[in-house]
Amino acid sequence: MPDLATTKARIADAVRERHPHLIAVSHDLHDHPEIAFEERHAVAVLAAELERAGFTIERNVAGLETAFVATAGSGEPTVGLLAEYDALPKLGHACGHNLIATWAIGAALALRETLPEGAGTIKVFGTPAEEGGGGKAIMAQAGVFGGLAAALMMHARDVTYIERATLALTSFTVEFAGKAAHASAYPERGINALDAVLHVFFGVNAFRQGLPPRVRIHGIITAGGEAVNVVPAHAACEFLLRAPEQGILDGVRERFLGIVRGAEAATGATATITEGRGYPHRVSNRALADTFRENLVALGQGYEVPSADVGIGSSDSAAVSHLVPMIHPYLQICDPPIGGHTPEFAAAARSPRADEQIAEGAIALAWTAAEVLLRPELREELRAGFREQLGREPQG
Ligand SMILES: [Zn+2]
Ligand SMILES: [Zn+2]
Repeated sequence: MPDLATTKARIADAVRERHPHLIAVSHDLHDHPEIAFEERHAVAVLAAELERAGFTIERNVAGLETAFVATAGSGEPTVGLLAEYDALPKLGHACGHNLIATWAIGAALALRETLPEGAGTIKVFGTPAEEGGGGKAIMAQAGVFGGLAAALMMHARDVTYIERATLALTSFTVEFAGKAAHASAYPERGINALDAVLHVFFGVNAFRQGLPPRVRIHGIITAGGEAVNVVPAHAACEFLLRAPEQGILDGVRERFLGIVRGAEAATGATATITEGRGYPHRVSNRALADTFRENLVALGQGYEVPSADVGIGSSDSAAVSHLVPMIHPYLQICDPPIGGHTPEFAAAARSPRADEQIAEGAIALAWTAAEVLLRPELREELRAGFREQLGREPQG
């Protein structure tokens, strides 16, 4: 069996040979932006690339039309590369998921071509609907990530970070039923559902002073009455609650539900509460992150450590990080400050600089995946780290 250094050199060659083609794939996805759960073109393109290289494709994974799992090799260990490919309504690939997908398949194709026989199994997970649909959370619930020695993916950004946490999140829709009445002639006969929604906002705002650090609560009013001369009989709002850890989120959630009950008591309107999608906070496996960092630095890439006050959101990748050792680094494709979800970032995701980073990112991911497959002692470190960080064994 060739040594690790030889295998890594072959991986780099395999990625660089394919680089122009990978750029074409990235541009193809960028030119055909598809929103959450509608990523049919992207899945067709990516599955065709993998199939041509000998991967077998399983489609409709976890009941999702645009989710897939591509598998090559056999036996243990198994390493997973996660691809995202959904775009944003109106903005196109303003989160650069065309690059996430291209990095994943670029790494997978190079691994397929260069790994020695018997090294294990490579899987590419096609994960739809990161933007709002939570494809990975649905796939995680269906158990598709079980048994991975490591899960790797990478996101584009205006700065390179090896590790960055995300916030645990839960979501609520609250509908209030009141009673209509003439707003001037007989307002006393009505029950004002809009007032109940406003009470929720007042309660949340009163709560803000006592919020633990980094907790976020943000809401919108989705129904607030139909006519100004009618006491609103129906009003509704949506809220996202986020916190650095699940335990803190649980406390915020209880308080929020108390606020809703308070709004009912204050107004006489009746609330229907629906809890929607939720994610845990994201955990970055330290040994896996260290390995990735060394590989990225060996490629001549720099990185920054996010400051304590850097803005963070939530991600469906967090669901995977609670099941198996995972990393979700960010690779710089443009100069700061160009935030995601902007037309400027959409342009950056198809720029010469992003194109150049396709090769470096794919090599760094593939080198890290190869180390997981070829170094049993690293796999033991990943497991030990997972146990330490999450207090349980990875999902088998
Ligand atoms: Zn995004
Ligand atoms: Zn994104």
